[in-house]
Amino acid sequence: MKNISCKNCGGIMTLDASAMTATCRFCGSHYVLDHADTDYYMDFYRQMNSFFALSNDEQERRIKADELWNDADEKMFTTSDGKQISVRYLYNYSEHDADVYVARRNIIFHFHKNGAMLSELCRRNISILDYPSADIRKLSDFFPSVAGGYELDDKTYILVVTKDEDEYPLSLFGGLGGRHVAWIISRMENLCCVLEFSGLVHPEIDPNTLFINPYTHQAALYGNWWNVCRNNSLNGKGKIMRTSENLKGLRKTASTILNDPEAPEALTEFINSTPRLDAYEDFSYWDEMLIKAYGERKFINMDTDDGRIYGSGSKE
Ligand SMILES: [Zn+2]
Repeated sequence: MKNISCKNCGGIMTLDASAMTATCRFCGSHYVLDHADTDYYMDFYRQMNSFFALSNDEQERRIKADELWNDADEKMFTTSDGKQISVRYLYNYSEHDADVYVARRNIIFHFHKNGAMLSELCRRNISILDYPSADIRKLSDFFPSVAGGYELDDKTYILVVTKDEDEYPLSLFGGLGGRHVAWIISRMENLCCVLEFSGLVHPEIDPNTLFINPYTHQAALYGNWWNVCRNNSLNGKGKIMRTSENLKGLRKTASTILNDPEAPEALTEFINSTPRLDAYEDFSYWDEMLIKAYGERKFINMDTDDGRIYGSGSKE
């Protein structure tokens, strides 16, 4: 996938769901894309969207994934003890603190500075995560697992987090229909319940930190763990961070990715609503609104994905 570099600082920009504007998360610059670039990214989004329709055909999935990875770029890192690490990545962009490379089974965070400290913060925050004892969904699969960290020859650091091959950044799918947004909200509510249970605030829940599996309809929160903090603590700007920030990020994400002129009113009402008291109440509220939006919730066996219950909804 081709990149758009920031004219101000050279960082790799992120795009909005309509692929019309780009933002540099490193320096904060905005930029309006020309038509050719918008067309290119809309095509890319369409290609990613076609994955939703492949859920039962393993072979077709692998062919599609291989096509995607044929166009992958390569980046070489050299560690402080002279080892070469080669990374083939599908997507990369700049965060304020790190350049992020999405590889097939890993995500690589290359910190601009203070890498040792930020890597340590990531590991610490991930270690605070706690799961309810009856965690039959294996929610830990949807939070980062650190595979390693390396000091590089230029004294910067990289941190490597694992991911499943079929997990892609949500931002690569562009705008989505209401039914897709609905299952993504359900999964985000799950993630927010774990954060609530663990007393953690993730201030950057957004389409770049969230990864989705288009086949199993699962979502994971892998990005920006160095910015996570404890509930009721002060962030760097002196603001008290509370777990309601998680629920605001959830709504902002849903609002960013929703592109559906026929979205039910209950869905948009939920997206525009104020977060409930905590993530558990918010999830109940969402369940009510989901029924209003798409009808009575059918009995769900935990192993059944919502796609089979609600239909794939990806017809264009
Ligand atoms: Zn910039």
